[in-house]
Amino acid sequence: MRLIIMGPPGAGKGTQAKFIAEHFEIPAISTGDIFRANVSQGTPLGVEAASYMDKGEYVPDSITNLMVRNRIDEPDAAQGFLLDGYPRTLAQVEELDGMIKYTGHALDAVVVLTVDKDEIVQRLLQRAELEGRADDTEDVIRRRQEVYLEETAPLIEVYKGRGLVHEIDGMGDVGDVTKRIFDELDIVTES
Ligand code: AMP
Repeated sequence: MRLIIMGPPGAGKGTQAKFIAEHFEIPAISTGDIFRANVSQGTPLGVEAASYMDKGEYVPDSITNLMVRNRIDEPDAAQGFLLDGYPRTLAQVEELDGMIKYTGHALDAVVVLTVDKDEIVQRLLQRAELEGRADDTEDVIRRRQEVYLEETAPLIEVYKGRGLVHEIDGMGDVGDVTKRIFDELDIVTES
């Protein structure tokens, strides 16, 4: 399975990505997590990425694409993967198309989590308290939502045009959302 999970910041992508990845025995590849690991280790990539992340802006495509390409090339991703937080721009969609084509495979599905805007802000503020993420201050949260709407939401239409999108109601109990996703993806695996 080669999957993407999309949705606005705070939609619960990371939480659901872990369950989906476990279910299909594929790695969940989160660009945000890889960036954060680099930031905390103080690598040159982390230093560069932090200057964008702290403002709620996207890290440049050139940096992000190379990082994903390297990660997808690792042996554990040979049988498939779930991308969480990538692609986020049209240029990244094109880049990913090339990466997957190169392996001789195809993308199987794009899971899009839909959520209520007000609930998202609440979730993100709660997470800020729990995890102390530098990019979870109120101004940055607002900027991240804007950037998502401008740059990433249009990608849903692109993938819809390819018949790959499965929109899932991301509201409510975490377990219920997981069940909705599995029910939907079961249809994909059976077809
Ligand atoms: P996330 O944890 O997915 O919300 O990502 C946190 C931050 O990492 C984002 O707000 C961006 O600054 C950066 N980031 C993660 N993925 C990407 C991407 N695909 N393209 C550009 N920046 C990204």
